[in-house]
Amino acid sequence: MSDQSPCQAVSKKRVFRKDRLRQAVLLALRLVVPRSLLLVHGDKNSRVVHLTFDDGPSPETTPRILDVLRRQGVRATFFVVGRQAAAHPELIRRMADEGHAIGGHTYSHHLPGQVNSRQLLDEVRRTDALLQQILGRGSRLFRPPFGKLTLGKLWRLWADSRSIVLWNKDPRDFAAASPDELAASFREHSLAGGDVVLLHDTSAVTVACLEELILQTLRSGLTFAPLA
Ligand SMILES: [Zn+2]
Repeated sequence: MSDQSPCQAVSKKRVFRKDRLRQAVLLALRLVVPRSLLLVHGDKNSRVVHLTFDDGPSPETTPRILDVLRRQGVRATFFVVGRQAAAHPELIRRMADEGHAIGGHTYSHHLPGQVNSRQLLDEVRRTDALLQQILGRGSRLFRPPFGKLTLGKLWRLWADSRSIVLWNKDPRDFAAASPDELAASFREHSLAGGDVVLLHDTSAVTVACLEELILQTLRSGLTFAPLA
């Protein structure tokens, strides 16, 4: 039996529609604003792929991701959660020392509807100040949790000189039950120049699959670079 009243079901549907509309507006904006303000993909005429890793650093999985990247000579971009960075500053230093780009992903990784634009900006600045403290430099790169922003939040971030980074390839590594499943997802949606790929350095499945993904991509004549 459903635990949802018809009224709740209708309002959930409306929220879902509003959410879809908001995401469509956000994606449409990329056509009219420069990439330095809103990046969804890189240069499609290039042979460069941008791997991005969200939600870390995690002491269990991030060092293993960094090991693979170092072994293959690949530099990537990490969107770190401030709370995690505060607990594991040595991993932030290692990312920077090994040539990776670092951006913020809020301090607490809240759900999109849980904070207003002022609270969001506070979290972004708090994470930036933490990076400044750990590395001696902050970062203007910001990726919103779940890739979701309202227009109000977007204006506020732009007014604070933030560069918003989304993605155009999402293999859903967080939902993959096994490395085979993730590898199959990559085979189905092969990478192309300019792709910004969403991955998570908190995923054991990603750790297991990453080296093969890199080798497969290099074999197809593509290279990797961190986001500027
Ligand atoms: Zn996230």
